[in-house]
Amino acid sequence: MARDMVMEHLHPTFRQKVELLLQELARANLPFRLFEGFRSPQRQRELYNQGRTKPGAKVTNADAWSSLHQYGVAADFVLYIDGKWSWDDSGERKGWWKQLHKLAQLQQLEPLSWELPHLQMQGMQLAQLRSGSYPPNGDTDWAENLQQAIASWHGTPAAPPLPTAQFGRPPLPANAPVLETNNLPAHDARRATVIARDGLRLRAGPGTSFDVKTTLRSGQLITVIQTSGDWSQIDIQGDGFADGYCHSGYLAFS
Ligand SMILES: [Zn+2]
Repeated sequence: MARDMVMEHLHPTFRQKVELLLQELARANLPFRLFEGFRSPQRQRELYNQGRTKPGAKVTNADAWSSLHQYGVAADFVLYIDGKWSWDDSGERKGWWKQLHKLAQLQQLEPLSWELPHLQMQGMQLAQLRSGSYPPNGDTDWAENLQQAIASWHGTPAAPPLPTAQFGRPPLPANAPVLETNNLPAHDARRATVIARDGLRLRAGPGTSFDVKTTLRSGQLITVIQTSGDWSQIDIQGDGFADGYCHSGYLAFS
């Protein structure tokens, strides 16, 4: 299972710290790069099995959903020299790793004493993350990736609760026009506005495993026909016919 180096899969607060750290490392001429960011529960399980039910030396004590990598708030930094990754910490390089940790601490990134490349967002408690208490101000990129990981996991331990992206929306001005409600197709249908900054995926069914049919515009006004768990069945044109489903966390109901 491949490593994930996608910055967007990291929680935005953590992502910003990682970006600043990478800038500081470049400025200090330290050849560290992001080796791995988000890690799926499947890959975590695969690494956990190594040295236990699979051959090889143990590489981690954390099973699926027990590493901060699964929540997008941890990342591993490794030396990249002459086109190769290096974990070497002998001689002069010992000081480089020390500098990595020093620069990281300036960004409130915590190292682990037993794992040189690992840095995580300060103050994160695994128990809180597992119970669905995620850091504030998660964005769509981070939330959708974590939702996907949760939806793809059917093993033990159970996946954590779904995250929702949060948006710092300014309050509605007092003179904002009241929406036209003459054409509501059904008395129980509700109007809602898409609040996902980069648009919201409309899917064929209520879950991230269903195909994406189209992307709703940020700010687009739609009609919710009914809800199913965290998902809303959407009528785009307001003609009373269902067009698909999207996650209710990105809808503001009017
Ligand atoms: Zn790590």
